[in-house]
Amino acid sequence: MSYRSHILDSPIEYLKGIGPKRGESFKKELEVFTFGDLLAHFPFRYVDKTQLYRIADISPDTPHVQLRGVITNIQTAGAQRTTRLTASFSDGTGIMDLTWFKGISYMKSYLKTNTEYLVYGKPRMFRNQFSISHPDIELVEDKKMQFENRLEAVYPSTEKLKNKGLDSRGIHKAMKMLFEKITPRDVTENLPPSLIQNYQLMGRWDALKNIHLPENEQLIQQAQFRLKFEDFFFIQMRMLQSKVQRMDKYKGYLFPELGEYFLGFFNTRLPFELTNAQKRVLREIRRDTLSGRHMNRLLQGDVGSGKTIVALMTCLMAIDSGFQACIMAPTEILAQQHYEGIGKMLGDIGVSIDLLVGSIKGKKLRRNIHEKLELGMTDILIGTHALIEDTVKFKNLGMVVIDEQHRFGVAQRARLWAKNVQPPHILVMTATPIPRTLAMTVYGDLEVSVIDELPPGRKAIKTFHFFDSKRLQLFQFMRDEIAKGRQVYIVYPLIGESETLDYKNLEDGYESISRAFPLPEYKVSIVHGQMHSSDKDFEMQRFKEGETQILVATTVIEVGVDVPNASVMVIESAERFGLAQLHQLRGRVGRGGEQSYCILMTGYKLSSEARTRMNTMVETTDGFKIAEVDMKLRGPGDLRGTQQSGILNMKLADITKDSKILYIARDAASEIVQEDPHLEKPENHSLKRYLKAMESDTRMEWGRIS
Ligand code: ADP
Ligand code: MG
Repeated sequence: MSYRSHILDSPIEYLKGIGPKRGESFKKELEVFTFGDLLAHFPFRYVDKTQLYRIADISPDTPHVQLRGVITNIQTAGAQRTTRLTASFSDGTGIMDLTWFKGISYMKSYLKTNTEYLVYGKPRMFRNQFSISHPDIELVEDKKMQFENRLEAVYPSTEKLKNKGLDSRGIHKAMKMLFEKITPRDVTENLPPSLIQNYQLMGRWDALKNIHLPENEQLIQQAQFRLKFEDFFFIQMRMLQSKVQRMDKYKGYLFPELGEYFLGFFNTRLPFELTNAQKRVLREIRRDTLSGRHMNRLLQGDVGSGKTIVALMTCLMAIDSGFQACIMAPTEILAQQHYEGIGKMLGDIGVSIDLLVGSIKGKKLRRNIHEKLELGMTDILIGTHALIEDTVKFKNLGMVVIDEQHRFGVAQRARLWAKNVQPPHILVMTATPIPRTLAMTVYGDLEVSVIDELPPGRKAIKTFHFFDSKRLQLFQFMRDEIAKGRQVYIVYPLIGESETLDYKNLEDGYESISRAFPLPEYKVSIVHGQMHSSDKDFEMQRFKEGETQILVATTVIEVGVDVPNASVMVIESAERFGLAQLHQLRGRVGRGGEQSYCILMTGYKLSSEARTRMNTMVETTDGFKIAEVDMKLRGPGDLRGTQQSGILNMKLADITKDSKILYIARDAASEIVQEDPHLEKPENHSLKRYLKAMESDTRMEWGRIS
């Protein structure tokens, strides 16, 4: 921060033309408290005032125009609510009307005949003549005109501000006033000179000046690039810095060699050839566990991409070096499933595993599990997330794998946990891919791995979108599949307004399905959130064992169940589901060798967004592509964890639109951190100071100036 930065800290009401009342509105409406804050209130578009139009050239499809001429006549017409003010405006090539329906008395006193004005607005045809209502209008001789002949910034404003004369133009005027007050010396450059040079960035002062008072289109582009770059760059610097700090603070356990367990498993028990993606991820983890640094790695991989085997082999790396490992699953059912599956895979290679979940009640039984763990007799403990908080003591825990399906909360918790002394390595696995840009931003301080390849031989799930009127065809299709020995899920949405309503929705569905698929030929299970978990398990089990052919359910089946024989997923009122959820649900089928289907049922009336969701599902099964579309539709804000990262506070940059700039900024930040992890080189000093200031100033948002 420069010694002159105080001027940017001046309260906004001190700016000429603002004063206490408008100042108050600025603070309340826009959180603009100081000159510096105003500088960071960016326009969202520009209007072109570089051209003068002639009235004679205006045609019905002419966009916004700027005209120069005189007013020849002023009239008010109508009474009370319908009053309007009409001014005849002539530029020598033609005549048109300018009209006002509001602020009439003010305009009446402002407008004078036989005086030259610049007028800006959108002409419309009315009674065979062009007119502009509520144009921007200014005296040509007005001194401030020196700024006018150019592209003009349009600012976000609010109704309340507009009432105080602070519409976009008002803000624009305040901005001009501000730039008369400040000089380039008031704005500190916060990027190192070499960076500015290497990436050919516009300087900070120039960027701010051109974003608000641009000279031309090209300079706007450069200014926007520079400021977006800056937004992204500082987020990335903070992420990478916190990674450096974690690495400095914690040593990571060393797993020096792969031994009998890992290699024994690999050579004799591996049930299939690993995919290239699985191999790559294992190599990445191996590298971490050889480095002496602490690993906090996020593994993203779609449902069915084969994360479990990676988790297991990661644990074996730890065990080979005499450490224990644990695997945490989001639900008891899943923990149980992992326990059984992993037990089978390990066979008799001599790794001891144990299961610890809430439903293991007997005191003695639990104590036994705890004891074996403390003595180091258990190699891998499998349980639910509760293990994190539980008082479970390990002898020497070296690796924690967290399988969290589609929840993001645990990554956060893992970070907390990592704050303990000498933490174990952590691998968080998630089945909800998020776009790379978002991962970089939200999880930029973690190591990130991706399994972007499904095991071979999978038949891609075929997805169809049916309108409700095709229900009879749907039933026929279901009968055909069931006749082939397959099973069918039918999922109903949680409407959320009331549980009873949801339940009724499901009950009605269940009844109509039971009618269409009558006993004794067909058997139908039902599972929903209000059932006792023992009843739920019982119904699930019946379906799993093939006693029932159809499972009618709410989204409770989203997480977990693995029924390879189920090949049809019908999603009712599919328009009510988000893309991520639709994708998760679809992932329930396609687990066996058979061709699987997902059928999205909706009514005819669909919002364009819902249509995009349906089309996306029909077009692709790639979770990353789906996540990309999802982020574009909903913005990044719906993802948990995005708040902390500051990406929602970025003033200009938008990770859904500016991904190229993000990648460039990420590279730039990585380069600097790689060469100078602690920012000790003189040329990085100001950067370091700026980052420190950002951190300590709690009011300081990303991208805030000063
Ligand atoms: P997820 O990533 O959803 O946890 P899983 O680990 O449950 O996926 O794997 C899904 C299925 O694919 C399992 O039946 C698993 O045995 C199988 N699988 C995993 N990796 C491979 C592979 N490389 N080749 C063949 N099948 C695999
Ligand atoms: Mg899994």
